[in-house]
Amino acid sequence: MTAQGAPDLPIPGPRRAWWLREALAAESPSLLAPSLFGEEVADVAIVGGGYTGMWTAYLLGEMAPDARIVLLEADICGGGPSGRNGGFLHGWWENLPYLAKRFGPEQGLRIAEAADEVVEGIGAWCTKHGVDAKFTPHGYLRVNAFANEPNDWAGSIASLERLGAPGQLVHLDRDGVQAICGSPAFREGVMMPSAATIQPALLARGLRRVLLERGVSIHEGTAVGRLDPVPTGVRLTTARGSVSASHAVLAVNAWAAGWPGFRTRMLAWGSYMVVTEPIPDRLAELGWTGGEAISDSRFTISYFRTTHDGRIAFGAGVGNAGYDGRIGPVFTHDRRAIERVVANFRHLFPMLADVRFDDAWGGPIDITADRFPVIGSQHGGRVLYAHGFAGNGVGPAWVAGRLLATRLAGRRDPIAAPLFGRGQRILPPEPFRYLGARAIREALIRLDDDLDAGRRPGLLTRLVARVPSLLGYRFRH
Ligand SMILES: Cc1cc2nc3c(=O)[nH]c(=O)nc-3n(C[C@H](O)[C@H](O)[C@H](O)COP(=O)(O)OP(=O)(O)OC[C@H]3O[C@@H](n4cnc5c(N)ncnc54)[C@H](O)[C@@H]3O)c2cc1C
Repeated sequence: MTAQGAPDLPIPGPRRAWWLREALAAESPSLLAPSLFGEEVADVAIVGGGYTGMWTAYLLGEMAPDARIVLLEADICGGGPSGRNGGFLHGWWENLPYLAKRFGPEQGLRIAEAADEVVEGIGAWCTKHGVDAKFTPHGYLRVNAFANEPNDWAGSIASLERLGAPGQLVHLDRDGVQAICGSPAFREGVMMPSAATIQPALLARGLRRVLLERGVSIHEGTAVGRLDPVPTGVRLTTARGSVSASHAVLAVNAWAAGWPGFRTRMLAWGSYMVVTEPIPDRLAELGWTGGEAISDSRFTISYFRTTHDGRIAFGAGVGNAGYDGRIGPVFTHDRRAIERVVANFRHLFPMLADVRFDDAWGGPIDITADRFPVIGSQHGGRVLYAHGFAGNGVGPAWVAGRLLATRLAGRRDPIAAPLFGRGQRILPPEPFRYLGARAIREALIRLDDDLDAGRRPGLLTRLVARVPSLLGYRFRH
């Protein structure tokens, strides 16, 4: 305990995140898939063992059972954000207006519907394969927790109705919100009924198990250092071996920010989480027993959900930007980010001031100029890629995986096809990107603090926070 009587904060660091430790403990025994030694030949070589890489492998195996698939993962499958995220599982309803603008109202709606089907699809997949990822289809509530700042929920609901998706966002007044979770900080909100939560690492590790059973050749502890086009396809080079394949898939999420071709197209940003000790009785006092996922409407969004053993897992996008595509300790060891996350927790749940945190961790989020994933190909179609999920990849990684798998199987995904190879704006070069992101982060935090306290933010803060929009970047829904 500290002098003030508040519990000590856990220190984020190299330890596996709490979700992944739980998932690994449930594996018996948990064996590392062997590192790559020597030469291997495949039809498709996938770089990255997160959801995107593993859904691509799984769905390609469904479409082309004879395809020889190799998956190379620098760490262990699920060791990245796929095994340490918040577990909010939803599609793109809040992106529907943007999808409609980019692809037309009809196609936009079809893409959003397809992304929404993923939620039930993942639940059904878990049942089919005996993967107990604690799938909980009880919706996602967004609440306004600012003292005086109104939200334009009515506008969001009306635009979804206009675009053909009535009922996908449902307004809840303060009483409706309080009936779900009784924090005095919560005002009115909006519910996305079709969303769910999962235990993220159990899903990632379950996917890995199914892939191994299906004969996918997985090499963990195997970082790909080079990827070169060759006349027969591509050659991937690792520390102690290489893979020759007709096609490669880059499914490296925020790490893509360091790959040639993507450096100026993506910003990596830190998101951090804590998990409390088990507090089922306190959750019952709050009335939060329905398993709903919740987030607030801060600029540096706080997101929180309960766990199957009665804890709160609570995160916020309060980390820092990375410099020049490097994915280093800023995304995993940032103690000040954890202090921020905990301050947000205390603000939203003042009645839980005495509750202990059992773990803290962070990871990188991959942000593109329009906060929407980019899926496409390089080197004449020999290298396919998907990244840019902007902290919403649990469901959308399936959409990306399916799109990549259909291309690799020589088919066409009629619904998501327009997402493939879409144009993308570049971000400012370094050091301007890093310096700009830092200044904007500070302004957003100040803005949130002011709005939390019911103060009017200063002119400079408001101006800096608006810079991304003024430059034409999309940084909110
Ligand atoms: C703290 C946090 C909370 C989040 N919460 C949510 C949430 O609640 N809901 C949601 O939808 N999304 C959330 N996200 C985002 C979500 O986790 C990601 O969008 C999703 O996991 C992306 O999956 P992926 O497979 O593309 O990437 P990853 O899971 O990052 O997988 C990429 C893999 O590539 C590997 N790799 C990188 N470079 C190489 C290389 N050279 N060679 C071999 N392997 C390499 C990495 O080790 C990593 O395992 C959160 C993210 C974070 C960090």
